[in-house]
Amino acid sequence: MSAQSGHVGMPPTSFDPRFVQHCATKMRIDIVKMLAGAGSGHPGGSLSAVDLVATLYFGAVMHYDPHNPQLPSRDRFILSKGHAAPVQYAALARAGYFDPAELKKLRKLGSMLQGHPDARKCPGVEVSTGSLGQGLSIAAGLAQGLALVGQMGSDGQTPPRIYTLLGDGELQEGQNWEAALYAAHYGLGSVVAIVDRNMLQIDGNTEDVMALADVGAKFAAFGWQVASVDGHDVPAIREVLCAPRPPDKPYAIIADTVKGKGVSFMEHVAGWHGVAPSEKECATAIAELDQYLADLGTITIERSAS
Ligand SMILES: [Mg+2]
Repeated sequence: MSAQSGHVGMPPTSFDPRFVQHCATKMRIDIVKMLAGAGSGHPGGSLSAVDLVATLYFGAVMHYDPHNPQLPSRDRFILSKGHAAPVQYAALARAGYFDPAELKKLRKLGSMLQGHPDARKCPGVEVSTGSLGQGLSIAAGLAQGLALVGQMGSDGQTPPRIYTLLGDGELQEGQNWEAALYAAHYGLGSVVAIVDRNMLQIDGNTEDVMALADVGAKFAAFGWQVASVDGHDVPAIREVLCAPRPPDKPYAIIADTVKGKGVSFMEHVAGWHGVAPSEKECATAIAELDQYLADLGTITIERSAS
């Protein structure tokens, strides 16, 4: 089946890095268009997280069924940095949770695609987020709850994975570190925290605002298994996501990323945290991304039957 058609449907059953890169580039195009159409929102932190989210959804990592969003054995994804909602919406639309035409309604009154993810409105959104610093606590609680009821994941032997994507700026919120203690203390090995370490937040460089320094060392000190990865290297991202690890240790992946990744004039610029591109800027960005898409060429992928 040609991925060039923008096909949405069941998750891929095998890993093809070029397919994930194709999906990631399409997602970047969707994000830029969505934000330009809405006239507001958060491009920088949406674009930095694209390769991470694309690998989860389209790299044969997460177990999910867009036709049955409440499938008990599904892996969960929590976008703790909820202001990056466009990256989640782009993935969910591409995965088949809803009609991609909905993307045009970002931030519109009554739309399922609110400025921050709303679990009551948008299929595939597990938790309403946007109030920063809370995703890790929710992930730990979900993991604990699923363990208590004995819910197993797709292999029937281990609990569903709970992936949560954290911004680096939001790690300045103290609640994260209580959740880190909790997840380690209770041996919640199904919790996977992915830190989008783009070194920027709304007010500038994270190290100037309130230094986070070595985030991986901090999680390790709290008793977590830790890995670091280039957050734009799809095969490397998949490798750390799928690496064998102890069943009773939560897992932190520190992903080095570039804020605004994929759009040259947005990269490394804190000012693109919460400003939508103009029509002209949108056209420039799309031209760059279209070229990258063309360079990737035609891609095919096997998918499981629905
Ligand atoms: Mg950041």
